[in-house]
Amino acid sequence: MKIDNSTSSTWQQMDAAHHLAPFTDYAEIREHGARVITHADGHYIYDGDGNMILDAMAGLWCVNVGYGQQSLVDAATEQMRILPYYNNFFKTTNQPVAALSQRLAEITPDGLNNVFYANSGSEANDTIIRMVRHFWALEGKPAKRKIIGRTYGYHGSTVMAASMGGMVDMHRQAADQPDFEHIRPPYAFLYQGNSDEAEFAAHSASLLEDKIVEVGADNVAAFIAEPIQGAGGVIIPPAGYFDHIQAICKRHDILFIADEVITGFGRTGHWFASQAMGLAPDMMTLAKGLTSGYVPMSAVMVGDRVAQRLIADGGEFYHGFTYSGHPVASAVALANLDLIEELGLVTRVRDETGPYLASALARLADHPIVGEVRSYGMLGAIELVKSKDGPTLFEDVGKAGALCRDHAIAHGMMMRAVRDGMIMSPPLTFTTQDIDKMVDIVTLALDKTAADLGIT
Ligand SMILES: *Cc1c(COP(=O)(O)O)cnc(C)c1O
Repeated sequence: MKIDNSTSSTWQQMDAAHHLAPFTDYAEIREHGARVITHADGHYIYDGDGNMILDAMAGLWCVNVGYGQQSLVDAATEQMRILPYYNNFFKTTNQPVAALSQRLAEITPDGLNNVFYANSGSEANDTIIRMVRHFWALEGKPAKRKIIGRTYGYHGSTVMAASMGGMVDMHRQAADQPDFEHIRPPYAFLYQGNSDEAEFAAHSASLLEDKIVEVGADNVAAFIAEPIQGAGGVIIPPAGYFDHIQAICKRHDILFIADEVITGFGRTGHWFASQAMGLAPDMMTLAKGLTSGYVPMSAVMVGDRVAQRLIADGGEFYHGFTYSGHPVASAVALANLDLIEELGLVTRVRDETGPYLASALARLADHPIVGEVRSYGMLGAIELVKSKDGPTLFEDVGKAGALCRDHAIAHGMMMRAVRDGMIMSPPLTFTTQDIDKMVDIVTLALDKTAADLGIT
């Protein structure tokens, strides 16, 4: 479709009248209209009003290779010509999905050798819920149904995935299925207090054991965690946390699931955060960076223990989607993985841009409204505070964050606010110059926010 920039308001009106967009306040959008993103290239998105915006969020944590990568476009085009679609239900498969499955088994942690495909992270996590319950039933323990997640955890927006996640506002809107429990995350900025890192790690993990004892290990199927909580505010666990967690899961014979939808595909400076953190999950959720968001695709990596049981005596698994293992999505995923390798993005993040981002953000720690900065690979967060004393948080949670985000966007950079935390998750192709530019705009946005709030 040809976009005429002079008629942005026409698109906005058309959109506001009929489009119920995700995670949107409909009254607000009807009044003000949505920003019309017309095109994107490299690290910039462009809107219908002629703004060019540095995308420090990589879309929604997903455009790992940046925009405009011709090899992904070519892979999609060619595959659409050869075989645009065929299903994988009835003893059929396609070449790209076979190749992708082998590739994913190679790059994911040892022991994850089988893969089930879906179209979104939510569907992948729904799949996991069914699969772990089915697994325990096959093991002769059908009572093991409960899944423990964490507050501020995000696992998607279907009824089940949102119930498994720890977003209270989502639970309140009919995503409150039974058999999901939540524990407090190791959110050091809020909860560490005076304890040292090792104590904080051990205590945070012990909450899992408390919960297992409370509901009974005989009733618990699995514990699920994002290695770094993304949508919850880029919450980075203290060293040792997941060692304790994995030991607890083993002790009580509970499956451990790593949701690597954000942390996968190089974002942490490793192919997967599990490899960086020494995790050996029984299952792993993949989406977003799998195709760099160019087309929808998600996957569940299934570990040997679960896979062998399903294969040995599961019979038919009555589950799947029309587009599971879609040939075009598989071809794009393969081209995306090739490009990540070709550009050396995983080691670039580990050795160059990740450390560079950490030191660039560290320079903001002295800013009067900054309570903490943290980062891991190409994930960053800045906690805004009313006063560094304590620190003292803002009473009206979310207001300062939204102000700061809006200033950043007005100055040409897309950043997200989670409560009063400013969140960054740029494309892995970001250079050190892009990081400098990003941090310059963040600094400007922080200054303007402080001025708005009368803090000096
Ligand atoms: C985005 C996300 C999901 C959900 O993915 P969708 O494709 O939006 O359904 C699940 N888990 C994590 C960690 C995510 O960040």
